[in-house]
Amino acid sequence: MTLPTPAPLLTLRNVSVAYPDGHQALHNTSMQVKQGEFLVLLGASGAGKSTLLRSINGLVRPSRGEVLASDLPGTALSSRNLREHRRRCGMVFQQHHLIGRLSVLANVLIGRVASRGLLGSLLPWRREDKLAALAVIERVGLLDKALARADTLSGGQQQRVGIARALVQRPRLLLADEPVASLDPATADTVLALLHDICKKDGLTAIVSLHQVALAHRYADRIIGLRQGRVVFDGEPADFSAAAEAQLYAPPSTSSAALDNVRPTPSLTNQPKELQPC
Ligand code: ADP
Repeated sequence: MTLPTPAPLLTLRNVSVAYPDGHQALHNTSMQVKQGEFLVLLGASGAGKSTLLRSINGLVRPSRGEVLASDLPGTALSSRNLREHRRRCGMVFQQHHLIGRLSVLANVLIGRVASRGLLGSLLPWRREDKLAALAVIERVGLLDKALARADTLSGGQQQRVGIARALVQRPRLLLADEPVASLDPATADTVLALLHDICKKDGLTAIVSLHQVALAHRYADRIIGLRQGRVVFDGEPADFSAAAEAQLYAPPSTSSAALDNVRPTPSLTNQPKELQPC
């Protein structure tokens, strides 16, 4: 008996992004992301990785095409849908965006603001919020630092706080924009291993942009290579060869050779009917 293939959590259909200054950062990009997948985005600076992540969480509106989530009711990009989608997208940033003078606990609690609403966030934190925050702080191995000021922590510890702040939202999708780019190689590996381990244990879908190809090989279920706003590789790490890597990062002058070797994006025909734009 063949089991039905589960619907992808996320589908991008012909998404293009042009910024107000006219710069086209993403060209006609289509992809599907499976529930529980640990997807790594690779590409040189300016390739469009952040733009792709930002269009997935609704911070950037595609100028063409659509982003669809299988678990949201409603119609195209309604504000209600987008709010719910964002509330359940955890974001981890390269620069952590922590408030240095606040404790680790207070920083992690900021991840609960969206679920409490503006009014609720003006009230003292509820016991359940604090317990939820402490639980994720423990998961990232920082329980003994819960009351320490964030700016007294090392870079790796600060990124663990950034991960905890995303997790306390109870996201169903985790988006991480170069989360280990500012860490030394050993710490980068440890922090990414932690993130990967949590995602796999929780069945959490993750899309993570990285500069380090070796880390993509170690942790990705699938790699998407972006070059000048186009997907030029979409496949398993084992298929991301040294030649594919050289093409992905080749200077723009050799771009035509690189773009000749594009691997077609998986077909987006036969979309499940329950997919709804978010
Ligand atoms: P990456 O994350 O791969 O470094 P980005 O998505 O940040 O790439 O940027 C893709 C391209 O879009 C770059 O050429 C960048 O300069 C441009 N870009 C990014 N943000 C903006 C913006 N707000 N306005 C205009 N151009 C932008």
